[in-house]
Amino acid sequence: MRILIVEDEKKMASFLERGLKEEGYTVDIVYDGETGWECAMTNEYDLLILDWMLPKMSGVELCGKLRNEGKTVSVLILTAKDSVEDKIMGLDQGADDYLTKPFSFEELLARVRALSRRPAHLQDKTVLQNLDLKMDLIKRMVFVGEEEISLSQKEFALLEFLMRHAGEVVSRTAIAEHVWDLHFDPMSNTIDVYINFLRKKIAEKNAKSKIETVRGTGYRLANQ
Ligand code: CA
Repeated sequence: MRILIVEDEKKMASFLERGLKEEGYTVDIVYDGETGWECAMTNEYDLLILDWMLPKMSGVELCGKLRNEGKTVSVLILTAKDSVEDKIMGLDQGADDYLTKPFSFEELLARVRALSRRPAHLQDKTVLQNLDLKMDLIKRMVFVGEEEISLSQKEFALLEFLMRHAGEVVSRTAIAEHVWDLHFDPMSNTIDVYINFLRKKIAEKNAKSKIETVRGTGYRLANQ
């Protein structure tokens, strides 16, 4: 899950970044609407968290512009405004959800989880299953059969992406776009290294699920 945060209050931005990273999300941060627009147009995000009042372009305006370009990414708007008219205006511009400041981080997380389940290609589930491999997205636990395997946050995020696309070939580019942030070096072998960590941990439990290498293309989590 890769999230873009557009928030000009630096303290709020770093609070969100730290919290979401701790939960295993991949997070990019920018501080004004225009840069947010450029980022959202050039990268693949699973969710945008936009502050309403931003320099250069408001979060609501940015959301409307992205929708006009046909971008279907989930959008959560943060706002100090809480009048009904304000909310309607934001929702009319294509926002999926709202959170009024101040809010608790727990509530933000619950909404992020709900929004990340929303796109049609993602099943509305809190548990992902592929053969004998099971991921509990709320408790952030992974099992092979009844046995738990312990994964780092990056390994968890990588496996979640593979599980959501089980049976499909996913390219290194797609993995980099959804699991790593803007500072990721596409020329590095980081993805292959993490795939190998994951493979080893899964194989140690004699799992039926296997991560296959598709030569020249990427990886596939076998689903049969
Ligand atoms: Ca602001």
